[in-house]
Amino acid sequence: MTYDFDLFVIGAGSGGVRAARFAAGFGARVAVAESRYLGGTCVNVGCVPKKLMVYAAHVADEMEQAAGFGWTLEEGNFDWGTLIANKNREIERLNGIYRNLLVNSGVTLLEGHARLTGANEVEIDGQRYSAKHILIATGGWPQVPDIPGKELAITSNEAFFLKQLPKRILVVGGGYIAVEFAGIFQGLGSATSLLYRGDLFLRGFDGSVRTHLKDELDKRGVDLQFNSDIQRIDQQADGSLKATLKDGRELLTDCVFYATGRRPMLDNLGLEHTGVELDERGFVHVDDQYQTTEPSILAIGDVIGRVQLTPVALAEGMAVARRLFKPEQYRPVDYRNIPTAVFSQPPIGTVGLTEEQAIEAGHKVQIFESRFRAMKLTLTEIQEKTLMKLVVDADTDKVLGCHMVGPDAGEIIQGLGIALKAGATKAQFDDTIGVHPTAAEEFVTMRTAMR
Ligand code: FAD
Ligand code: NDP
Repeated sequence: MTYDFDLFVIGAGSGGVRAARFAAGFGARVAVAESRYLGGTCVNVGCVPKKLMVYAAHVADEMEQAAGFGWTLEEGNFDWGTLIANKNREIERLNGIYRNLLVNSGVTLLEGHARLTGANEVEIDGQRYSAKHILIATGGWPQVPDIPGKELAITSNEAFFLKQLPKRILVVGGGYIAVEFAGIFQGLGSATSLLYRGDLFLRGFDGSVRTHLKDELDKRGVDLQFNSDIQRIDQQADGSLKATLKDGRELLTDCVFYATGRRPMLDNLGLEHTGVELDERGFVHVDDQYQTTEPSILAIGDVIGRVQLTPVALAEGMAVARRLFKPEQYRPVDYRNIPTAVFSQPPIGTVGLTEEQAIEAGHKVQIFESRFRAMKLTLTEIQEKTLMKLVVDADTDKVLGCHMVGPDAGEIIQGLGIALKAGATKAQFDDTIGVHPTAAEEFVTMRTAMR
């Protein structure tokens, strides 16, 4: 049977674009459908605009530190409208780059909503296309609990386009997005509260990291409310919002921002016309080669709900392109030791096992931990502390995990990710000569195990 395309990719986000470009590069006839924005979540309402806003918030820190270095600054004025307009311009530039990347690789770009009409068939705007393989790379969408007044709340999708900076904001959730945006809004000048339903946010991160970040956010004046959950939201006559908590307390605010996880984007995708099944959490079920329960259909990225990070979607996209069209170069994605950063203020960088995970996995662990005030702050009044931590297997001396809270944590952890992938031991960390004077050198100078 002849098909219109060898590969039809649904979704031009991180994973879809990578798979499409590489498949076309391997000689396949490829189409990609995109209904909303080229580059997907990461480029439009995720990593990229978020990081630009983190930089904006960080300027407040630099200004606070300036006096210690002899600078007298006039009181700074922040203009939200300028930040959003400049950010939008940059995102439009990136959208254009993504368009060129696809077109120049020979991929057919179809702009519109794609719906599966069969195991080898997709419909866009009434036009049907056949393909030997179909790749679902439709990403995710914010999930807001079903409470009265939830339509008054915003999510990350809207946060990037607010008309003005809210004077007061309640951020709900305790994951990456909640912690990052609490830092952004607090840094830009909003009175910021973070409400999390459990005892301590960032479940799954190392315990020392979680408590350290809590202490630092407390110092910065973020109003942290743990064991708190909103029962309903009501609009007030003056336009403000009243959040009534499950414990009966009432909080007044200008904006409620839900960051309570993301669901797979399967809206009107037509899965019912195929044999694709979902897993128990509602994500697309795939085997270890990203094949769904319909043999001609594959899925990657956030829609399979494994690790919702852009570099992981990229790696999965690459793996699919290779497996289908360059099998001799195929390598499975290694999900161990994925380095990751939370761009909170201060940021977190982490790779490998947490202390808790290492113990749970049966390792006899040695813990090396260092807390210090960064050199840059010694001429200022700021009392922020940096945390660095190594989790080491006492029997093999292998470093199992590296964790950091402090400036540039994301930049520093990337290199340590290579060390862990190479199976480095604590002795090899110790044998590595430090770069002086940096904070990063602390990772190679922690001599005494604290437990
Ligand atoms: P996406 O990038 O979401 O792409 C899916 C695409 O499919 C979208 O463009 C969508 O419009 C399109 N689509 C959906 N349905 C259809 C259809 N039926 N027809 C046609 N097109 C369709 N990750 C990091 O690694 N670092 C970060 O700093 C980071 N920050 C983030 C900040 C925020 C606020 C958010 C929300 C996420 C962040 N992420 C970050 C996660 C990262 O954005 C995702 O893991 C990544 O984008 C997933 O890529 P994907 O290809 O699976 O899906
Ligand atoms: P996360 O899954 O990271 O966190 C969701 C948070 O919401 C958790 O604290 C969870 O609590 C809480 N929660 C879930 N449901 C409810 C509910 N019904 N009521 C109250 N609280 C609830 O999701 P995010 O939305 O923060 O981000 C989605 C993903 O995007 C991240 O997991 C990450 O993979 C990716 N991302 C990556 C970034 C980066 O690399 N820097 C930045 C932003 C996002 P509990 O822990 O108790 O379940």
